[in-house]
Amino acid sequence: MTPSEARARDAADPLRTYRDAFHIPDGVIYLDGNSLGPLPRTTPAALADLAERQWGDRLIRSWNEGWIEAPRRVGAKIARLIGASKDEVIVADSTSVNLFKLLVAALRHASPRGTILSETGNFPTDLHIAEGAVGCVPGSRLHAVARNQLATSLDGETALLMLTHVHYKTSQRFDMSAWSAKARENGALTLWDLSHSVGAIPIDLNGAGADMAVGCGYKYLNGGPGAPAFLYVSKRLQEMLASPLSGWMGHAAPFGFADAYAPAPGMTRWLAGTPPMLGMAALEAGLDIWRDVDQQQVAVKSAALFDTLAAIGRNAGLDCVSPADPARRGSHISFRHPDAYAICQALIDRGVIGDFRDPDILRFGLTPLYLGFADVVRAGEILCEIVASGAYRDPAYQARNAVT
Ligand SMILES: *Cc1c(COP(=O)(O)O)cnc(C)c1O
Repeated sequence: MTPSEARARDAADPLRTYRDAFHIPDGVIYLDGNSLGPLPRTTPAALADLAERQWGDRLIRSWNEGWIEAPRRVGAKIARLIGASKDEVIVADSTSVNLFKLLVAALRHASPRGTILSETGNFPTDLHIAEGAVGCVPGSRLHAVARNQLATSLDGETALLMLTHVHYKTSQRFDMSAWSAKARENGALTLWDLSHSVGAIPIDLNGAGADMAVGCGYKYLNGGPGAPAFLYVSKRLQEMLASPLSGWMGHAAPFGFADAYAPAPGMTRWLAGTPPMLGMAALEAGLDIWRDVDQQQVAVKSAALFDTLAAIGRNAGLDCVSPADPARRGSHISFRHPDAYAICQALIDRGVIGDFRDPDILRFGLTPLYLGFADVVRAGEILCEIVASGAYRDPAYQARNAVT
């Protein structure tokens, strides 16, 4: 695609106006929105309102003026992005903590089955938290296998299949319906990590028959650094699972101040402590941008941006490790190169922010709301120049190789 073809594509793009909803610094082509989404233009005012009016003026009265409802209200805004009903999603804690709550709850529910089956090379926190969760439930264990061993590893011991929908390095996507059905046939539950798919590709948890899910607020949802995360539990399971972090905000009557714990009905039981309202306000501002977005348009544009960068990478001789079929990938593209780290540093120096994933992956997030074809073509040109000229061999870019 030539730069003028790219500009024509951008002019005809039905999503082009969303770019104005974000602050993208001058001179930067941001290809890392899958790791930290950029600042929505409405967020500073939302945070100022929370601090000055809601906290400053309204003080504790704000709990009855929208704060106490925030985890459910914001959860409902996520629900429509993931094919869930609004009372199946709640916002709380971090993705890691939500994984822990659901894993322990599911293991206790599924006993005597005791195995969490997952994939080696899954996002690190998923496996680390699973290790911690099995340590809390006697008779349980974590079994992580290569992707091509998953199907044959599902057995009568499997309590739960825990998969990350879109892989953070390769962008490979699991077929959620097929794997949910496979797990169900084997009597196992499913838990999906949507961190790299929510806001990137259409998701239909209900349609796929998924049991549980978690996901991240600060990537494609643009909720800000360390934004609160979310969790989903299918209605058919909600009253059968209980959070091991049985805090007062998940109590059936938190202001009854009883000594004994009784879980709230529905999703509220997954709250442990008081909702973090500063983070919640920023996440809600990010989510409000999504209100009228057509997710099919996002998927179509994501696929086209990917194909554009894939073609440029191919011409530069880079080895693309992400699937060619749009239905089998997320919204980021990864290339393998032995000097990936140095190339990434050289790109950042030229205003192209992507990232490096150990040991040899160059990863670029393609976020259709604020990235255009001209951005991707320009980033591709710079990438080709760096690779062809060997500029990345400059010792200034090689620091990591010097220490490892
Ligand atoms: C980003 C990401 C997380 C993040 O977890 P935190 O608790 O927010 O640090 C978890 N899982 C996956 C798959 C991710 O991509």
